[in-house]
Amino acid sequence: MITLSLFKADLGSAVGHHKPPKEILSMAKEGLEKLRKRKKIIDFLVFNAGDDLQVLLSHKKGKRNESLYKEIWNLFLYITKEFSIPSKLYGAGQDLIAKKYTKGLEGTGIGIAEMSFKERKTEPVLVFGADKTEPSAFNIFLYKIFADPFNTPGLVISLIMRRGFEFIVVDLEKHKKASLKAPEEIYELLSLLGSTSQYAVREVYRRADKEIAMVGTITKLSGVAGKYIGKDDPSMLIRVGKGFPSVGEVLEAFSFPYLVNGWMRGSHYGPLIPVSLKDSRVSRFDGPPRIVCIGVQLKNGEITYPTDMFEDVAFDRVREKALEYADLIRRQGPFQPHRGTLEEMRYTSLKEVINSLKKKWKKLD
Ligand SMILES: [Mg+2]
Repeated sequence: MITLSLFKADLGSAVGHHKPPKEILSMAKEGLEKLRKRKKIIDFLVFNAGDDLQVLLSHKKGKRNESLYKEIWNLFLYITKEFSIPSKLYGAGQDLIAKKYTKGLEGTGIGIAEMSFKERKTEPVLVFGADKTEPSAFNIFLYKIFADPFNTPGLVISLIMRRGFEFIVVDLEKHKKASLKAPEEIYELLSLLGSTSQYAVREVYRRADKEIAMVGTITKLSGVAGKYIGKDDPSMLIRVGKGFPSVGEVLEAFSFPYLVNGWMRGSHYGPLIPVSLKDSRVSRFDGPPRIVCIGVQLKNGEITYPTDMFEDVAFDRVREKALEYADLIRRQGPFQPHRGTLEEMRYTSLKEVINSLKKKWKKLD
């Protein structure tokens, strides 16, 4: 069995929330190279999604391996202490909420997505990282990939895929999970996935043989810290081809820039724009929210041929459309539905602003 473990955290960036300096990525690579030499891992991949550092490990230690978790915690802490803080980076160590390592990295603020499987004859995997948005931003795309035949013809054409996929949906408020099966429960599934302020997809399984197809990071930093301290930028892994949606079927879902929550101060809806790694940084209104995708081929656990999947003219039109969308919705300024609902803003300082107006309120005459 091979395990892929994806970790992500914002350890600091410049200028403002733009992107992490190259030193952060090179320090991560150096630390992971040592782990590889010590044979703790088989291979690794380091990249950034906007201001977040993303680290993918391949190894044979299985999911929730405490010794690997500790190594990642120590590495992220080392980068923060030795570089981010002395360099006075923006949000230095922002996502390291816990003071010290806690079991399972729970409550530390580091996002984790892990999957274990027997490597197939050929094992392509897509690694996604998004910035200035939240885990439920993936809901609409995952529905299209794994449940909508208009996006994924394999659901109709493939004997194995037509048996459908099982979605594990997490209630981010109540910390519970539910299993819903496509196609027979798609209406119920949509009732949850459409409620993006509360539900997000953690895993997707192929029903024919219970093979893992997708896993995503599910963190609610505001829930961990009790206040808004940055958006819960999501990442995910998707296995592709040979009984799973193909590379093209997965990427096709991103050919329309659906609106997601996040963007400025984690409080505004905006289009999710698929970009190449060179554009994996945020600028306008601290966004727009973006997503990058690195495709890899596994070779006995080795991570080979990392490929920048959105670096393609085929995505130019969705990018243009996203910018038009951004222009339109920005006109809405501080008004809903560009700005989030009061419920969605409850961890932000808007609550304090509204509370400060208490004395203004008089009895209705
Ligand atoms: Mg971020």
